[in-house]
Amino acid sequence: PDTVRLLSSSQVITSLVNVVKELMENSLDAEASSIDVKLENYGLDRIEVRDNGLGIKADDTPVMAVTHFTSKICSNEDLERLETYGFRGEALGSVCSVAEVSVITKTEEDDVSTQYTLNFSGEIVSQKPSHLGQGTTVSVLKLFKNIPVRRQYYSSTKKCKEELKKIQDLLVAYAIIKPGLRLTLIHNRILLEGFFPKPGADYSSTSSSSADKTFIFVNNRPVHQKDIMKLLRQHYSAQYPDTPTRNRYPTAMLKITVPPSSVDVNLTPDKTQVLLHDKEAVLTALDALLVSLYGYRHN
Ligand code: ADP
Ligand code: MG
Repeated sequence: PDTVRLLSSSQVITSLVNVVKELMENSLDAEASSIDVKLENYGLDRIEVRDNGLGIKADDTPVMAVTHFTSKICSNEDLERLETYGFRGEALGSVCSVAEVSVITKTEEDDVSTQYTLNFSGEIVSQKPSHLGQGTTVSVLKLFKNIPVRRQYYSSTKKCKEELKKIQDLLVAYAIIKPGLRLTLIHNRILLEGFFPKPGADYSSTSSSSADKTFIFVNNRPVHQKDIMKLLRQHYSAQYPDTPTRNRYPTAMLKITVPPSSVDVNLTPDKTQVLLHDKEAVLTALDALLVSLYGYRHN
């Protein structure tokens, strides 16, 4: 029966974009006005869809991921005046068979939210109180972990990028048809933390060795990142138009936190060089941060 379940699930859940679509439609059916989609490693490591909708009633949670359970139709007449995206009750159960799924939900009546961990068959294996507000958050980890062929299919970055584009297009499409819906998409959340000199304060050294006063960490590892140094220096030195800027580095600390899967530390034996798979995203985020700090925009 496990094989049959896996087979039929893999026909319902065919792709990364397909999972995002099903989860978003559930959020829309729950009358959400805000949906946040987060992806790690193009969604292969994690897809998370959070909404502020009606939530799932406690009575329904034990069956929410049971195949053919749907809270959306009760009678044949309902089918004829269907106004929801979902009605087959297949999506959530199918995702459970091809990934690790947990659901956090809270209705208006509930005092606190509850996090449910689901198994292959869509049954609840554990539950605990959680801290989220009204609505539902579905997390899908390790999609297609038990379908190696499909995992393999997504091993090429080109395929993943195509899929990410489709996900972006999907969000745009919903944004167009649902005005007033707040939608966000975050791929590989990057956390930037740092200490930078105040605008105008000259905590810099102009000696040629001054780059060693700028500390950069990626996931707590001290690293050398030329592009990031360069960006920091551009923003910082733009405040001092009269002085030669070639070697002007701020005394600064920048801590970058990215999902472990999106960084490769084994480029050099001393591990001070790292490969950020999404370096452009890091640079863009840092640039935005520095613009807000120093007000300098370069072209
Ligand atoms: P369907 O959408 O066809 O009903 P699904 O498998 O997609 O089936 O979802 C099963 C049930 O889980 C839904 O009928 C609904 O009761 C509940 N559910 C899933 N996601 C959400 C959500 N984001 N908000 C509220 N209820 C949800
Ligand atoms: Mg659905």
